[in-house]
Amino acid sequence: MTAKRARVALASLLAAAGAAQALQLPRESAVPGGVKLLRLEAPGDVAPRVEADGHRTLVVRDGEGWIAVVGIPLSTPVGDMRVEVFGAAGAQPVDFTVADKRYLAQSLTVAPGQVDLSAQDLARVKRERAVLDRALEHWSAAPPESLRWFPPVPGVHSSSFGMRRVFNGEARNPHTGMDIAAATGTPVSSPAAGTVLDTGNYFFTGNTVLIDHGEGLISMYCHLSAIDVQPGQRVAAGTRLGAVGMTGRATGPHLHWALSLNRTWVDPELFLR
Ligand SMILES: [Zn+2]
Repeated sequence: MTAKRARVALASLLAAAGAAQALQLPRESAVPGGVKLLRLEAPGDVAPRVEADGHRTLVVRDGEGWIAVVGIPLSTPVGDMRVEVFGAAGAQPVDFTVADKRYLAQSLTVAPGQVDLSAQDLARVKRERAVLDRALEHWSAAPPESLRWFPPVPGVHSSSFGMRRVFNGEARNPHTGMDIAAATGTPVSSPAAGTVLDTGNYFFTGNTVLIDHGEGLISMYCHLSAIDVQPGQRVAAGTRLGAVGMTGRATGPHLHWALSLNRTWVDPELFLR
């Protein structure tokens, strides 16, 4: 091959890679805890409003049309799931199929006080749940800059999302994030651009940072040993958010990374490059 032909071949390869990157969709996995990519035939320049269980979903441009990126709750039964698409003619139901996914079970032993909570701790957890609920309901109109991210901490991430958990022999809520094991003090970076929605110290999640990426896509970083950002701060992909730790309920130093879409925890793995 001549040098010129090689350059042309390389240029078209890069163009193809660029085109693939431009769409930047997460991987589709229509299972409980997964993401459905729903192509919508809606003319015009205004994204159609789509709601799943009363919560507005992320909608991104796809050439001439639109794609709703719908988070599927872990508790969704196998079968049809319905979303409402709002157009000029009112709400139109659209159904899609949710397939089965068997998540593994995980048994953990923690201090009894972290499972059987005192009245005081229960009251604290209830207050904190309300704060988290409000944060996850936050909607900002600017769409995310990217939907394919680098992990917030390099290293081995477990496929622990969705695991059914047994604490000290008792079944509890499933695991709603991805755990990345790393030494205490390892920097945690924002995997994508966004705005710091909230920071705080919570009973279960310890030192926690919430980032709003736009249109209801919100990421959460837990058990941090340090928090280096403040609410309202704009962050870029790669901005340091804090450091890995084991604050809150954790059996060892790790990052618990969780991702909420239309008020639903989804598997962060689907958003990794
Ligand atoms: Zn976790």
